[in-house]
Amino acid sequence: MLLQKLALPMIGAEDETDPPWDHLGVLFSITPHLVAAVAILAATIQPYGAGEFGKVVLVLLILSAQVAIRGIGDYMYRHRSPADKLQLWLARFSVISLLSGVAWGLALAILYADSPPDTQVVALAIGCGIVQSAAARAYLAPRSTLLVIMTVTAFVNVAAIREGNWVMVPICVAYVGFLASYMVRLITLDEKRIAAEKRTRVLVDALAESNEKLTEANEQLRRHARTDALTGLDNRRGFNEELTRRLDLAHKADRPLALLLIDVDHFKRFNDTHGHQAGDRCLQVVAELLQSAIRGLDATAARYGGEEFALLLQGSEAPDAIDFADTLRARIAQLLVPAEEGRAANLTVSIGVAVARADDDENSIVSRADRYLYAAKEAGRDCVRGTETPMRADVSA
Ligand code: GH3
Ligand code: MG
Ligand code: MG
Repeated sequence: MLLQKLALPMIGAEDETDPPWDHLGVLFSITPHLVAAVAILAATIQPYGAGEFGKVVLVLLILSAQVAIRGIGDYMYRHRSPADKLQLWLARFSVISLLSGVAWGLALAILYADSPPDTQVVALAIGCGIVQSAAARAYLAPRSTLLVIMTVTAFVNVAAIREGNWVMVPICVAYVGFLASYMVRLITLDEKRIAAEKRTRVLVDALAESNEKLTEANEQLRRHARTDALTGLDNRRGFNEELTRRLDLAHKADRPLALLLIDVDHFKRFNDTHGHQAGDRCLQVVAELLQSAIRGLDATAARYGGEEFALLLQGSEAPDAIDFADTLRARIAQLLVPAEEGRAANLTVSIGVAVARADDDENSIVSRADRYLYAAKEAGRDCVRGTETPMRADVSA
C-alpha cells in the first residue's frame, strides 16, 4: 500500500485534464531550485575563506549546470505544445528530477567532505531543506520526489561514511522513513480531495441539469398559464400582461397602440342552431384568421373571453386601426364555418377600436374599446366603431 502510493507517477494523472498539468507546472518551476542554489552558494563562503578554491569552483559548476537544466526545463514546459501527452512530460520530469537529485547530492557531498563541522552542519541543513521541500510536493509526483530524496541522501551519506561518520546512516534511514510516511499521508489527503472534487463535479452537473429542466418546465407552465386551450391564442391573463407591456411602450417609446375588441354576433343563436361543437370550431376559425391577419405585424391576438377576441396593434394610429378592423370584419363575414351534416355556416363580428391616449391605463382603454363595441352592436352588428368615429355612425357601411 505504502510503496504502491509512493510509486505513483502522479496523482490524478489518469485524467489527462488540467490539474495534473498545473501540478507539473509547479514541479517544473525553477524557483525552489534558485533558492537552494543561493543557499549552497552562501555555504561556500567558508571554504572560499579557507582558500579551498577547487572545492568552491566545483560546487559553482554543479550549481550552474543544475540551474541551467532546470531553467531550460521550466522554459520548455511553459512553451510545450498543447498536443503533447501528459505521460511524455511525466517521463521528462522523472529524468530532470534524477539529474537534480544527483546535482544537489553531489554539491552537498563536496561541500561536506573534508570541511569543518560548522560547514558540514550547514550542508546537512540545506540537504534537509531540499528533501523536505521535495516531500512537501510529494502528492504531485510521488515517484520522482522519492527519487530526489534517495539520491540526495545517498550522496550526503557517502560523504559522511567516507569520513567514518557511520552514525549518519541510521539517522538518514529514519529520516527518509519519516518523510515517506509523511508523503503517503499527503498523497492520501490529496486522493481524498480529488475524489471529493469529482463528487462535487457530478453533483454540480446534476444540479445544473435539473435546474435547466426546472427552468424549461417553468417556462412551459408560464406559457400554458397564458394560453387559451381552445384557440391557442393568449388567454385573458396573457392579454392583460401584453396590454400592460404594450401600453408602457406606447407611453415611454411613443409607439401608438390600438386595441380592437371583437365580439361574434349572435353567437348564442349560432350555438343553438349549429351545436356547441360547431360553435367551438367557429371560435377556432376566427382565431386562425386573426392570427394570420397579424402575422408580421407588431401585434398580439388574444381570446378575451367567451366569443370575444382582442387585438393589440402597436404602431397603428386610429385611421389605420379602424381600416384594419373593418378588413377583418369583412373577411370574417366571408368565412364559411363547417357545421353539422356537412353544412357550412356564416358568422359576423362587431368590433370596437380604441387608440391609447397619454392618460390611458389598462382599464380606461379597455372600457373605451368596450363602449365602441357596444356602439357597434347598437348600430346593428357586423360593423366597426372606434376612436375618431362617431359612436352612432357605421364606418363599414
Ligand atoms: P351578441 O351579438 O350581443 O354578442 O350576442 P351573443 O349571443 O353573441 O352574446 P351572448 O353574450 O348572449 O352569448 C354569448 C354566447 O357565447 C353564450 C355562450 O354559450 C357562447 N360561448 C361562450 N364561450 C363559448 C365556447 O367556448 N364555445 C362555444 N361553443 N360557445 C361559447
Ligand atoms: Mg360577448
Ligand atoms: Mg356575441
